[in-house]
Amino acid sequence: MSPTPPSPQRWIRPGIQALSAYHVPAAGDLIKLDAMENPYRWPENLIDAWLELLRDVELNRYPDPDAQALNDQLRHSMQVPDGMRLILGNGSDELIQMLALAVAGPDRLILSPDPTFVMYRMIAEFAGLEYRSVPLATDFSLDLDATLQAVRQHQPAIVFLAYPNNPTGTLFAAEGVEAIVKAAPGLVVIDEAYAPFTDASFMPRLGDYPNLLVLRTVSKMGLAGLRLGLLAGPPAWLGEIDKVRLPYNINVLTQVSALFALEHKHVLDEQTQQIRRDRQILLEALRAMPTVDPYPSEANFILFRTLAGQADTLFAVLKAQGVLIKNLNPAGGRLQDCLRVTVGKPEENAAFLAALQQGLSA
Ligand code: PMP
Repeated sequence: MSPTPPSPQRWIRPGIQALSAYHVPAAGDLIKLDAMENPYRWPENLIDAWLELLRDVELNRYPDPDAQALNDQLRHSMQVPDGMRLILGNGSDELIQMLALAVAGPDRLILSPDPTFVMYRMIAEFAGLEYRSVPLATDFSLDLDATLQAVRQHQPAIVFLAYPNNPTGTLFAAEGVEAIVKAAPGLVVIDEAYAPFTDASFMPRLGDYPNLLVLRTVSKMGLAGLRLGLLAGPPAWLGEIDKVRLPYNINVLTQVSALFALEHKHVLDEQTQQIRRDRQILLEALRAMPTVDPYPSEANFILFRTLAGQADTLFAVLKAQGVLIKNLNPAGGRLQDCLRVTVGKPEENAAFLAALQQGLSA
């Protein structure tokens, strides 16, 4: 009998085979309002100064393994409390993966609300961890009783709370978050990816609880192309998590460019303030449309509900009109009939609203 030929079906773990890869649609010439990017470029003089800096970068050498200068700058820019340690990641995605790898093992579990950022579930699966989710209330606020009950029942190694939450844009009540931190037997990671668009933060609370960590990224403030995230928290935890970090995970171009950009953070801050103002205008325009129902947002995007069965058609009409947003209807559950639009430049938001209006009156 000939041996069975080696095959992915035999060796790739069933949990991985069952996953669909994270899909990023090609935007081509479409107005790109699907990925929570900052739509603004830098002023020309800043671009020139940055390009000048890049001349001296030694691409033949490995980068500083601890990215020390960038670390110091991030600590300052993100107001990390004294006594807390940082770990940098290739995007905050990589830090979520490091967290999962550091706790993975039999009977270990990650818990999050639902709906939330899909990578918590996917990374749990990559790392061989179990994943449980607790449905949010109908207005996408935390169901605190159910969450506390799930924490007691499942004893999660990590609870991830996106604050504000993606894809809903909602900001969970701080008292609820605190109650979860107090009740959790393991880590609670407050993912503040959308920090530039809200005044709320748990960063100043680091150290108040031994199991509280804060995750940040530079992606949404305008540096998504650099792939840089940071995890802040007590040294006892971060010293352990840092052991699963691959050497030189922050490349030299990112180190130099992020350091430069953060030294000019006021430029990015002006852009994110503009996005916050435009979010309000967009929200009011959506509220004025009788057949869509937007959710309040503390992030740089707005989730809105369409009439039953309309989301796929509206998404297609928008795309045909040259505007790419995110269709969450296929995700099902509470996200059925929902679409998510990223706040873009005023003219992009206007193009989106005009196309939506056209789709609704078709
Ligand atoms: N956390 C949340 C809540 C997000 O929505 C995202 C990206 N959409 C990330 C983390 C990942 O961000 P990045 O890897 O770009 O830092």
